[in-house]
Amino acid sequence: SREQVAELAQRGVVETEDSEVARMRKLSRQAYLNKWEAKQLDLLQAEVDEEGVLFEGEELTAEEKRHAELSKQVIAMARDRERFEARDDGYRIPDAYEDAMAAKKISISQARDEVLRSRYREEAEPKTEQEIWDERQTFRAVGKKKKSRYDVDSSEYVFEDHVEFVKSAMLSKGVDDDVRRDDEKNAASSSSKPAAAVEAKEVLAETRKRLPVFAYRTEFLEAVADNQVLVVIGETGSGKTTQLPQYLHEVGYSKLGAIGCTQPRRVAAMSVAARVSKEMDVVLGREVGYSIRFEDCTSKDTILKYMTDGMLLREFLGEPDLGSYSVMMIDEAHERTLHTDVLFGLIKDVARFREDIKIIISSATMNADAFSTYFDDAAIFNIPGRTYDVEILYTKAPEADYLDAAVVTVLQTHITQPPGDILVFFTGQEEIEAADEILHERTKGLGSRIKELIICPIYASLPSEMQAKIFEPTPPGARKVVLGTNIAETSLTIDGICFVIDAGFCKQKTYNPRSGVESLIVTPISQAQAAQRAGRAGRTRPGTCFRLYTAWAYQHELEENTVPEIQRTNMTSVVLMLKSLGIHDLLHFDFMDPPPAEMLVRALEQLYALGALNDRGELTKLGRRMAEFPCDPQLSKSILVGDKYGCVAETITIGAMLSAGNAVFHRPKDRAVHADNARMNFARGGGGDHLALLRVFTEWTDSDYSTQWCYENYVQARSMMRARDIRDQFNLLCERVELELSTVGLSDVQAVQKAVCAGYFYNTAKLASSGEYKTVKHHHTVFVHPSSVLANEDVMPRWLCFHELAFTTKEYMRHVFPIEPQWLIEIAPHYYQQKELV
Ligand code: ADP
Ligand code: MG
Repeated sequence: SREQVAELAQRGVVETEDSEVARMRKLSRQAYLNKWEAKQLDLLQAEVDEEGVLFEGEELTAEEKRHAELSKQVIAMARDRERFEARDDGYRIPDAYEDAMAAKKISISQARDEVLRSRYREEAEPKTEQEIWDERQTFRAVGKKKKSRYDVDSSEYVFEDHVEFVKSAMLSKGVDDDVRRDDEKNAASSSSKPAAAVEAKEVLAETRKRLPVFAYRTEFLEAVADNQVLVVIGETGSGKTTQLPQYLHEVGYSKLGAIGCTQPRRVAAMSVAARVSKEMDVVLGREVGYSIRFEDCTSKDTILKYMTDGMLLREFLGEPDLGSYSVMMIDEAHERTLHTDVLFGLIKDVARFREDIKIIISSATMNADAFSTYFDDAAIFNIPGRTYDVEILYTKAPEADYLDAAVVTVLQTHITQPPGDILVFFTGQEEIEAADEILHERTKGLGSRIKELIICPIYASLPSEMQAKIFEPTPPGARKVVLGTNIAETSLTIDGICFVIDAGFCKQKTYNPRSGVESLIVTPISQAQAAQRAGRAGRTRPGTCFRLYTAWAYQHELEENTVPEIQRTNMTSVVLMLKSLGIHDLLHFDFMDPPPAEMLVRALEQLYALGALNDRGELTKLGRRMAEFPCDPQLSKSILVGDKYGCVAETITIGAMLSAGNAVFHRPKDRAVHADNARMNFARGGGGDHLALLRVFTEWTDSDYSTQWCYENYVQARSMMRARDIRDQFNLLCERVELELSTVGLSDVQAVQKAVCAGYFYNTAKLASSGEYKTVKHHHTVFVHPSSVLANEDVMPRWLCFHELAFTTKEYMRHVFPIEPQWLIEIAPHYYQQKELV
């Protein structure tokens, strides 16, 4: 029966030779094909109907008739083609396909031409044979640009370069039919009514009411009234972040104090605050504001404050009872960032002695019980989700290059799938930029021949005007593809996504407590993360998730849950902060999941080595001043030691440049040589990357912050502006800790190098006789990053100090400068012995 078959389809593909199982598998495959095909055709039909060319019984013009006829043919072709393409080795329907083709006396390439035609329906005139042939060549050329792993017979596929997927799971969410109908109605009405400027306010108000959380507003407010600590669980996009603080404000909590809401990421804090200020129709930075490191966009009138979890942690230093807040919402708790975990411990304590404060812990659908247990069995408030089924497809074989596979899958989806936006998960900015470039290149030649593909990158350091682009509705006929990091997993909700492409990796900070070296490593995501990513495809209607890894890899290579950051990261900064808050007994601090004792011990040792703690583990005067700076203890140490070498101004400039992100230099492909020359100009005079950065900033300042200067010198104006802002912040902080802004300018390179080294003396490497660098303390092989100004030196310096290690293909030292070994004895006599430095 149909039900049985459907049930088999749900169970997915079973890998075994057993004949009964093979039969079931065939049946399930068939059920899947039928379902898939039906969906494809429904969608195509809907598209045709929408264009008003297939209205039965109505008078059609000759032109419309021709168009309608063509569309019908296309539907038939699409049916055949989809069936053909959806075959896999497990089950194939060649006979049915070939029969159909024979009956129609039509070749596969003709069928493909028809499909191509269907994509250009907007054009009034059907194409001539010559034009179609041209297009086919273009498709081929595009496909050939990159040597495909799948060198299949070109007559079989529209796109030659192509990734094969198998289905083996379904992310099912029981959605109640009424809700679904409502939803579809809403979606239809909102898309058919373009929001005129005057209507914008009402439209926003309407949109707010359509969010799943709206139906639970009263219950939520009652739950908050009844409980001091409330755990709120709800799907991404249900409205937790944007709506709950507004509801609390609407009923007057904001009269008792500000309503705070933490986010693990700066981009989320900014974007959500912008959204909420729009919904409340107020100026961003007044009633609604945000506070992130190096940027405070709030005022004394701010009643709804979005901030990063790190910023709230800093606020504890000035206000340990959070006295100015009536409500604090720790959002995205499931992310379990280091700062969120530390906040849990502090907030739990605040709740004990401040009866009037309300605490909300909100999370995507994970770990609810763990949160409740930790907060003394706090009540759990569930916002029922409203998500749709998501079909999950895995690659048949492992993909050697997920970036390439992702790009191919985007194009494949764009060409073959019905309307609906695409969201791709990458690990970071470099990958996103690469994918962006390849996609532009590969769609460029096609011009109007394929539907418009709007490419929107999103990562933390993207300027906010460009971030806003991802939220703009996709114009009809076009398709949006969002290239994001795990920021799009739960922190930002992008409407209209129907296809998710998951590369299966993310960048994760890992820390080796023995070597004291922290690196950002590309790591496989967890199964829980994979589920969150897939879920993004099913927010407005049923969707598809393409996983660029095999079902086997999912089962056997992915951890069930992500390890909380606190268990794998450098705690130095946080320990310094806790010490400044007067929390001495860290081993007994109430962590939800305590960090390994070894991590705490290393952090204490490092702080001791930096001089922030004395040998009894108490905060020193230096340590107290270091804690004032919102940066790593190493950097704040460098700044403070700058005083001794008379170069505070230079250390804060370097610190600002290092904090502004990695993209200081601009290196366009077609002018790479010029760009490299420009960069090397800054390296003249020595001192490696740090001094080069200092010269960039100094010259830019001398040019009166000119954008033209940036352009001529292949420097990113945007990064420079950010560096200037950060530097201003450091300036203010120096005033606060009464640190004089001494300066040596560019004349005393050594003084500046020594000051920086005084913070980073852990990170040293020595050139071994093998010609490779080894870290001084642990003899770990490391490499100078190719972007360093020292990367192409003929004679490499024997000793280096580096800013950080980044593991990509190798363990790279990012930002290096040469040092003299004697400096280490001068700077850190307790850490280095003479015999190590020969
Ligand atoms: P949750 O926190 O439960 O994941 P949110 O409150 O973030 O949900 O999102 C609710 C709705 O607000 C979503 O439909 C989302 O698209 C919309 N939204 C959030 N931020 C923005 C923004 N910056 N621009 C446009 N829409 C936004
Ligand atoms: Mg949220």
